[in-house]
Amino acid sequence: MTVCSLAVLKALLAHFEKVTKSAKGSLPKCIPTPTEALRSAIRCGKVATLDTLIGIWKEFDDIIYDGQEEVGAVLHYAARYGSVDSMKWLWAQPNIATDVNKVVGCYGTPLQAAIVGNIDVDVKVTCLLTWGADVSRKGGLTGTALNAATAQLKIRVAKAILERLNKGNVNIIAGQWGSPIEAVLSANEPNLSEGDVETWDMMDLLISKGVSAASQGGFWHTALHAAANAHALCTVKYLLKQKHVSKDERDLMGRLPLHLAAMRGHWEMVQELSSGNSTFLSEDHQGRNVLHMAAGLGRLSIVDKLLENVQIAYELINSTDNDGWTPLHWACHSASKEIVELLLRRGASKTARTINKSWLPFHVAVYHGQDFSDDLKVNAVPHNPDEAPPMLIYCSCCLCMIFGTLYKCMAKHVYCGDFNLCFKCYRHASTIHFRDHRFSSVE
Ligand SMILES: [Zn+2]
Ligand SMILES: [Zn+2]
Repeated sequence: MTVCSLAVLKALLAHFEKVTKSAKGSLPKCIPTPTEALRSAIRCGKVATLDTLIGIWKEFDDIIYDGQEEVGAVLHYAARYGSVDSMKWLWAQPNIATDVNKVVGCYGTPLQAAIVGNIDVDVKVTCLLTWGADVSRKGGLTGTALNAATAQLKIRVAKAILERLNKGNVNIIAGQWGSPIEAVLSANEPNLSEGDVETWDMMDLLISKGVSAASQGGFWHTALHAAANAHALCTVKYLLKQKHVSKDERDLMGRLPLHLAAMRGHWEMVQELSSGNSTFLSEDHQGRNVLHMAAGLGRLSIVDKLLENVQIAYELINSTDNDGWTPLHWACHSASKEIVELLLRRGASKTARTINKSWLPFHVAVYHGQDFSDDLKVNAVPHNPDEAPPMLIYCSCCLCMIFGTLYKCMAKHVYCGDFNLCFKCYRHASTIHFRDHRFSSVE
């Protein structure tokens, strides 16, 4: 509903009062609630409409939603979706002005809500800062106002925030992406090419103001993991020149930046991210090495390059992870017949069995519906598993498509909203994810 006419609004309000009294609390859905009317008035942006509405009704929901999105209190909603005028008018109300630093909803503060929105952002940010918005306040998905500004590549806003942060506060870790640099890299994944001026200007600004490229936290754990995942070699090289950045930091799942480079299929990056401690033999918390990971995701060129070295090929070809899965088991998860054939030519065993289900590579291929499963048949196969349907969602750990059962983290943690595991990675949930998080299964 759009409420722009004062006369129409007054008529509606009078009608609503009448219907409310006669309906005794069970209103038809077509009648807007006071909060719905308030939302429309804020979006419409006419102060007179807000004035009338609030003059008649006092009772609004404490938390305002927009569809499924928990936006926050009324000032958060105006910052995110309203006009500058409606935000100013609301702030002038005595019971609303105090919400300027209230942390609630998916954006945390009104300042973050304004930055994530796209309506007169600079003006709104200036107003909120003038009204005493605290730039170091933590909360919401983006975690901090600086993370929100860097993720959105809003450089003027980022400068205004950095001017107000003292040196000790520029490295606050909070929210989905943790640090400001991880926020830039995670939120702008498709733009991380050498020529993307906005991204590089933001990175240079942050580094010049003392923001650390080596911070740990957030979904990818480090900026280097985020860059490796984003297939961004130029960014990886840039980060490796920054103070204290290490190739050898592991994320919660024990994955090195090197592992993400292998999973994304970028050989030059695999070489760049290798070190004395990050090697082709290095394992994550599930005991998987680069060959398991590259084979599972069908990265033929990586598998080929890894096996060029005779010693590495000898050590890795039948190496097992903590579940007894070999690179051939993992290759049967991907749809790459070429990798299966390459591994077999290089001596991969068709008879290795997994620990949990005693699966041969053949069984993994059948379960994942691969048409090359017959090539892997051996004598005395005990039973065939049923073919599992693809869930069209990817595992947050092995990054493979999930088949059969999907395990979804139900915690309200900032980065668990979309944290899903396949049946195999879920067996290790307590060692690769927060121990107190509960999962639900979806078939
Ligand atoms: Zn997985
Ligand atoms: Zn979780």
